[in-house]
Amino acid sequence: MHLSLVIPCYNESENVQPMHDAVAAAFAGCGFDYELVFVDDGSVDDTYLRLKALHETSAQNIRVVSFSRNFGKESAIYAGLQHAAGDYVTIIDADLQQPPALALEMARFLDEHEETDCVAAFQERRHEGKGTVFLKNMFYKLINRVTEIKFVPGASDFRTMRRPMIEAVLALGEDNRFSKGIFSWVGFQTHYIPYQAAERNAGRSKWNTLKLFQYALTGIVSFTTMPLRLAAFAGVASALLALIYMIVVVVQKLVFDIAVPGYATLVGLILLLGGIQLFCLGIVGEYLAKTYVESKRRPIYVARRVLEPQQKKI
Ligand code: UDP
Ligand code: MG
Repeated sequence: MHLSLVIPCYNESENVQPMHDAVAAAFAGCGFDYELVFVDDGSVDDTYLRLKALHETSAQNIRVVSFSRNFGKESAIYAGLQHAAGDYVTIIDADLQQPPALALEMARFLDEHEETDCVAAFQERRHEGKGTVFLKNMFYKLINRVTEIKFVPGASDFRTMRRPMIEAVLALGEDNRFSKGIFSWVGFQTHYIPYQAAERNAGRSKWNTLKLFQYALTGIVSFTTMPLRLAAFAGVASALLALIYMIVVVVQKLVFDIAVPGYATLVGLILLLGGIQLFCLGIVGEYLAKTYVESKRRPIYVARRVLEPQQKKI
């Protein structure tokens, strides 16, 4: 198998058939073997039934992994990579926002450039509000500053990888998966190509601001322990300030005999230090929680059904 297309699907019943047809159209006469690996991420609509029907009737090689519940896109990608048989694997969304023709272009690029391990697409312009764009830019600035790996703004999961890179990604079996970080952590030579995301074919995006925020937090906690160090710095800094303040107060009292009014300062300081302490405790808690979840070593997903492709020559 030359290429596997991994397609995570969560409630994409309206998109499964169009996606399948779009791939068939784009790959017609491509001259190599390919398969579609649909991962049904515990959809509550009839996505699985449609995939099953496709598996039976399609002229293309179709593989289906169906989860026992919704585990999230990151888990779906992991399962797809695990089941993909291709020398190359492309991760592509089910909603037709990412053109299948570009996946073919990526595979051709890898064919022609032996030294490149991965071709990743990044969005040049996005149909997003100013607030979201600002927050995303802030996130990239922050995470690039505090981690040793490089995050490329706008780069998505839409990419084609060679087998060695796929194996490397699979070797990272962590539960808190942050693909952007994982792809850059494993390294390899990545070539970036710009693309324009289309409008979603049918259905709604599964992301909202809260989910994005949590995802960003996972990214930071998974790839840097800098916040823990910041907490320690904050502690040292506030202790130093307190020391200086105490010296000032003692000098005021003993040398200049100034009565030091205590109440307001005291309340202010207690509130400030209490706040800093709780904030630092929160940071420690965040890491502890992640460690707790990881220490359970639960599987990244649970498959309910796996449909193997009936080998077809295309
Ligand atoms: N997806 C998934 N599991 C989830 C959420 C999303 O497999 O829990 C899939 C979804 O079906 C789609 C892809 O991930 O194929 C991208 O999702 P979406 O279009 O909602 O994200 P956006 O394009 O808005 O970033
Ligand atoms: Mg989408």
